[in-house]
Amino acid sequence: MGGGAAHFIPRSAPGSRRKDDIDYIAKFRGSGHAIVTTEREMKTAAADPATRKMLGLFHPGNMDGVLDRKFLKQGTVPSFPEQPDLVDMVRTALTVLARNDDGFVLMVESGLIDKYSHPLDWERAVMDTIMLDRAVAAAKEFAGTRNDTLILVTADHGHGLSLVGTIDDTVPGREMRDKIGVHEKAGYPNYPPANDEGYPTRLDVSRRLAVFFAAFPDYYETYHPKLDGPFVPAVVAPDKSYVANEKYRDTPGAVLRAGNLPHSAPQGVHSGEDVILTASGPGAERVRGFLDNTDVFRVIADALGLGAPTAR
Ligand SMILES: [Zn+2]
Repeated sequence: MGGGAAHFIPRSAPGSRRKDDIDYIAKFRGSGHAIVTTEREMKTAAADPATRKMLGLFHPGNMDGVLDRKFLKQGTVPSFPEQPDLVDMVRTALTVLARNDDGFVLMVESGLIDKYSHPLDWERAVMDTIMLDRAVAAAKEFAGTRNDTLILVTADHGHGLSLVGTIDDTVPGREMRDKIGVHEKAGYPNYPPANDEGYPTRLDVSRRLAVFFAAFPDYYETYHPKLDGPFVPAVVAPDKSYVANEKYRDTPGAVLRAGNLPHSAPQGVHSGEDVILTASGPGAERVRGFLDNTDVFRVIADALGLGAPTAR
């Protein structure tokens, strides 16, 4: 389930991104998968007890994130208004997969957290992190009704970004940077209370979180959430180097930040620090301290009963 439908259709089909004539949708259909393309089709197919396999393709490219899908109706939401939420995809996947008495592996990625972190759009990345949190809660709800389900939650890498304080528009200052409160001056942001799903209903408040990236191309720092669609920090120049996107130059308070990445970099990059891994359920006791990422594979393999448990 997800986006990327353009990679499932033969190159002769309009919008295809394949280089061959393989029709993967036909192949999935031929092997007994229910094919669904909207939230409604997904839920209808899952409600049928005979559905035991499903392919959900809800967008030709990347799906839209929470901020655009639920709040702003920006991005490609006008063209693809029926994209399901990750939480609903997880619930649906668990419903269908649990029909297999031999068990299952479900891999879930909240992939837009990364895809929004690259263009330095941290508000969108955080909104999708809240969505991931809710997706994990849905998985735990499922696992809580039984005693045989290991849940692992981790990241495949980080991005260099940190919360350093708050930006308070009411603080007088020569520049936006003078309105940033750090340490004991940070105080609390004034986002409205979270809605039923845990999301702040507004991000453009007068005292908001100050989050900055460590690695970036030339770009205009606006100190504000991007409410007119995902951030595009840099654009390509005639000499193929990436320069700050002039679209944001006239945003009140925006300042040009000179990049610290090569001029060939259009956006931010992955970082190499350790990431968090949490676990619950049978086998979770092996997740503690520091682990090599390759050891996570062994935890999964043993939980599935593949071969003898590995001694550690
Ligand atoms: Zn990435």
